[in-house]
Amino acid sequence: MFSFDIKARLSHSKARSGIFDTPHRKIRTPELAIVATDAQLKSLPNEMLHELPNPYFIVNTYHTYTKEIIPNIEKRGGIHTYMGLEDRTIATDSGGFQVFSLGFGRKHKIGKILPSKEQYLAIGEDDSANPIQITEEGVKFEFDGKPLELNPEISMDLQHKIGADIMMAFDECTSPLNSYAYIKESMERTHRWLDRSIEAHKGHEHRQALFGVVQGGEYEDLRKRSASVVGSKDVPGFGIGGSFGDFKEALGTTVGWVTDILPDEKPRHLLGIGKIRDIFAGVENGVDLFDCVIPTREARHRMLYTKKGRLYLRKLKHLDDPIDPQCSCFACKEKIPLHQLWDWFLAYDSRATTYMTIHNLWFYAQLMQEIRESIEQKTFFQLKETYYKYY
Ligand SMILES: [Zn+2]
Repeated sequence: MFSFDIKARLSHSKARSGIFDTPHRKIRTPELAIVATDAQLKSLPNEMLHELPNPYFIVNTYHTYTKEIIPNIEKRGGIHTYMGLEDRTIATDSGGFQVFSLGFGRKHKIGKILPSKEQYLAIGEDDSANPIQITEEGVKFEFDGKPLELNPEISMDLQHKIGADIMMAFDECTSPLNSYAYIKESMERTHRWLDRSIEAHKGHEHRQALFGVVQGGEYEDLRKRSASVVGSKDVPGFGIGGSFGDFKEALGTTVGWVTDILPDEKPRHLLGIGKIRDIFAGVENGVDLFDCVIPTREARHRMLYTKKGRLYLRKLKHLDDPIDPQCSCFACKEKIPLHQLWDWFLAYDSRATTYMTIHNLWFYAQLMQEIRESIEQKTFFQLKETYYKYY
């Protein structure tokens, strides 16, 4: 269990394809996990999820914890039966990302990747502004006026109860606005939290794979240090978290520092990343697994993914065609015309977002399959060029 077999590699790049053996499914890599925030997708009932082609899902520990869904998941015998996905690989994150998004991210309304250096300078750097209490012990925060706590032991306990195939060690995801000194201090604490996570996971190793998480922000020395500390631990795989800097090739470069050091024979999951260009950059730098809210979130915002770029659903002249004639999702196979989706959208009929979500999930499943095949057939860079024309 949890063996990782690398099947093909590309010369002149770190891209590889492989098979990761998890208790519920052997997943072929590279693969992207669909984010089921609180153990559901917003526009699709769990009863329908098994109809999707996507083999990999990730659930947010923080959301299932704060919304008190975990007891219900336990009652149903774990996350796979709860979601009706007995034959899919499911992962949980550690809750650490929310330390970031509820702290700095929410305060400054920013994501993990800043759009420009100007924004960074406009906001300035302020390490004292984090409303979440982070100490060596763990993290204290409020939810709905109620005091809550997360630390390595609590995170492991919650993730054991959820029962996913892959779990993430408890970490702090720092902000691009944090200083070098703070990111270094936080990274070292995350390393100590990893030891506590490994200790708290003892006895569960055969059922759930615990991944150690590399942090270190955009700094080369910190990323390399984190990769060497986390990479030295006896865990079956690794997450790569945090922010990656804001220059054009930042993500690929930063990930490359890490994958140069992590053990080659274990899978790497790049956390929270899934823009098409970032997927290609990640794969090229030796990433095997991804997760991202883009396919589902953008569908709810009427953004549809096609091989010829993104299509924003609005009143256009020619809406008789399906979303993408080349796609085999329910919506496209049934030739549901764009004007039908538009009419549903105007009528607040949930079929609009349901079909658009299904289509985007199909698109990403297809994209990942094409990436895997292109590594095996040595046509990865041609495929990348084709997608870069439109993305
Ligand atoms: Zn489709």
